[in-house]
Amino acid sequence: MIYLDNAATMRTSEVAIDAMMPYMRTIYGNPSSLHSAGQQANEALFSAREKLAALIGATFKEVYFTSGGSESDNQAIISAARIGARKGKKHIISTKIEHHAVLHTLEKLKNNGFEITLLDVGESGIVSVEDVKNAIRDDTILVSVMYANNEIGTVQPIAEIGKICREKGVLFHTDAVQAVGHLKIDVQTDNIDLMSISAHKFGGPKGVGALYARKGVLLTSLIEGGAQENNKRAGTENLPAIVGMVAALEKSLDDLDRKNAYLKKLRDMLIDGILEIPHSALNGDREKRLSNNASFCFEAIEGESLLLLLSDKGICASSGSACTSGSLDPSHVLLAIGRVHDVAHGSLRLTLSVDNTMEEVEYVIAQVKWVVEYLRNMSPVWRDLVEGKRQFIL
Ligand SMILES: *Cc1c(COP(=O)(O)O)cnc(C)c1O
Repeated sequence: MIYLDNAATMRTSEVAIDAMMPYMRTIYGNPSSLHSAGQQANEALFSAREKLAALIGATFKEVYFTSGGSESDNQAIISAARIGARKGKKHIISTKIEHHAVLHTLEKLKNNGFEITLLDVGESGIVSVEDVKNAIRDDTILVSVMYANNEIGTVQPIAEIGKICREKGVLFHTDAVQAVGHLKIDVQTDNIDLMSISAHKFGGPKGVGALYARKGVLLTSLIEGGAQENNKRAGTENLPAIVGMVAALEKSLDDLDRKNAYLKKLRDMLIDGILEIPHSALNGDREKRLSNNASFCFEAIEGESLLLLLSDKGICASSGSACTSGSLDPSHVLLAIGRVHDVAHGSLRLTLSVDNTMEEVEYVIAQVKWVVEYLRNMSPVWRDLVEGKRQFIL
């Protein structure tokens, strides 16, 4: 099996698994318990919090453990909205290419009287700093822009957006789920007030994540109960997963430049190879993208068929977001970068990890070429295009 769906989730790293085991087998106390087993767990929890904080340029008091990226996104945005509502500020700025964990939360706030501005990103899939600046009003409480997009891999100008928000006194949240562990991130130099992290996107276990909240940014609890996480997130901490997450993050940031150089080489092979297919296109900016993301659209191709045939060839790929697949709506991200419905349906996302090899990439290029041609040969739409009864879009 060739796994090229690392943006959906990654294999749990051996380092993370090894780090987790003792916290199931021996150090299994509840961190809130006063006895020695509990205290041992509590010390491990504290140490994990300190390590995670150091890896993103924060302090331990600014790190809250959550169940993952979705929860962190929800809590960040709802907290900012609550802060805004108290000051009579009910305007939030975000983009059209955010993850649904952000977009659906904003949708809910809209129904509760908030005004939401969703910025365009243009063909490049990158939001303009100028647009963010111009959208900020006196009643704006929050700007939420993702660090890197999960479908097309484009990396946003986060530090610059953060700087503007800081100058204007507006809170800045970034969904950094695709970026943490893949890029060097420092919440100080990036001017970030709130940041969402998910472990399984960098080799940690699933169902665990973190929310960074700058000192002084008051969080609203989404879950009521015990006093865990400084009263901001009730529930016994998932200590094995938290320890696994921190081990995975340390590991993924180790030797990051060399790993990214390797991934870029594979990614560029994929891009160059697959773009040899006639009437195909790369989604998003060619340079300002994650080192492991190659996302394409093909004319006259149905994405689901493409994925199933590739799966038959042992290749695990995706059409875009794991959350959008299974629904018939085309991806909101591909529509936002100007792909028309038909073309957006013919998408393919290949996301690499350092486990992938050059041989695998060569095989995948050959198979994608073969499958696209096979499907087009059966497609009435393709026949119309070739016969000139329909216009090519790509
Ligand atoms: C995966 C993902 C999420 C959701 O994270 P979970 O931990 O799966 O809840 C949020 N935002 C982005 C950009 C993602 O890629």
